[in-house]
Amino acid sequence: MKESINPYSGEKLFSFKELDQRGLEAKIGLADACFSKWKHTSFAERSVMMRKAAEELKTNKRSYAEVITLEMGKPISQAIAEVEKCAWVCGYYAQNAEGQLADELVETEAQKSYVAYEPLGVVLAVMPWNYPFWQVFRFAAPNLMAGNVGILKHASNVMKSAELIEQVFTRAGFPKGCFQNLVIGSEKVESVIGHPSVKAVTLTGSTPAGASVASIAGKNIKKSVLELGGSNALVVFDDADIDKSVTTCVQARFQNTGQSCIAGKRLLVHEDVADEFLQKFTDRVGKLKSGDPMDEATFIGVLAREDLAKGIEEQVDKSVEMGAKLLLGGRRKGTYYEPTLLGDVTPEMPIFKEETFGPAIGLTTFKTDEEAVALSNTSSFGLGVSLFTKNIERAKKLVPRFEEGAVFVNELVKSDPRLPFGGVKISGYGRELSAHGIREFMNRKTVFID
Ligand code: NDP
Repeated sequence: MKESINPYSGEKLFSFKELDQRGLEAKIGLADACFSKWKHTSFAERSVMMRKAAEELKTNKRSYAEVITLEMGKPISQAIAEVEKCAWVCGYYAQNAEGQLADELVETEAQKSYVAYEPLGVVLAVMPWNYPFWQVFRFAAPNLMAGNVGILKHASNVMKSAELIEQVFTRAGFPKGCFQNLVIGSEKVESVIGHPSVKAVTLTGSTPAGASVASIAGKNIKKSVLELGGSNALVVFDDADIDKSVTTCVQARFQNTGQSCIAGKRLLVHEDVADEFLQKFTDRVGKLKSGDPMDEATFIGVLAREDLAKGIEEQVDKSVEMGAKLLLGGRRKGTYYEPTLLGDVTPEMPIFKEETFGPAIGLTTFKTDEEAVALSNTSSFGLGVSLFTKNIERAKKLVPRFEEGAVFVNELVKSDPRLPFGGVKISGYGRELSAHGIREFMNRKTVFID
């Protein structure tokens, strides 16, 4: 049995009976049967349905957002924004998939040679609870448009969201089996990946979960894409616009109550501007409104589970024991963790070294560009970095030196359907979104006509 528990009130919300082996086989069989027809549909037909999915999300955004908020404690205004973003990605791929997957002519000695993009088949998505709708739509919109079909193993605490996502595609007119939710635990994932009808797997989640899924996929010679954790640095140079950087850094760290892979998790600030930055940053963080996630005015909700809140508490406490200065927050009450700021942070401390998945951040100062790059690259993660400077030429010169999937200048790292999204190092491999994302689960067929 899977249960959703409201992390704010502790109330039991929904329960779901897990699929038995026969039920699971039946769903995979249905997905495979659906694929044999779906792959022959035209982009125009798929676009009509994908646009309807976008409409469905827009029309009922409030009710979908309420379930997200109830299940994982995200403030309602941010849950509504999440549903709107899902509508955006559906609309984006409805419009662009055909062009992104058009044959690519290659000049050779042949009469004609080209690369054709053909769908692989049934793709399994193992997804997390932090953006319960967005993470799934980011996978589903490109893949359904490409002619693949999707099966979802969602995080155990957001199974109602998973059910509703399947409902969005059903209401939009997608055929039965095109997108199905599987109510299963992670112990069943191995058998699903090993199933002959399942051709590939994508996982968004923690590094250990990614390593496990990738090794199973490897053993079965199946393609995998991994979007794992991150520990993005926010690098504030001495010539940065301090007020603007403060606003962006607060947003980068504290949106979604800090539970985001691309959140800015390490503040690296030039020592000449550190005092001014710290004073303004502390002031802003101190004013963030915590409260009932269902209240439109709330910015900081609760963490999705109590073990996650305890985890962040331990990381902060250990860092303080190691010499970090507690400047703000630092207390936990159940699933709520206060917005927290630490000073005098060094790279050995958990707040710097580990991924922190909650509303806490530490500040480290640097003297030179060299030092800033080295500090940022010390992390074993490589999802992204934000640079704050008025000197764009300086930023451009530094871009190649960061071991990251993305560098954003004077902006927080964010996902956007038009741009590729993904990491290097232990943040994973492969890309989602844009033309790069839609091509991940395709057979790039070489055609040579002499
Ligand atoms: P997990 O990585 O454990 O969960 C993510 C998804 O993977 C869930 O669907 C989960 O299922 C599944 N899963 C977990 N272990 C396995 C496995 N061995 N084989 C197959 N599937 C698996 O995240 P947690 O919820 O435990 O969060 C822990 C930490 O992970 C966070 O504190 C954060 O650091 C990181 N994380 C990163 C995210 C990101 O966006 N990159 C998102 C969420 C978490 P089930 O729920 O049934 O266990």
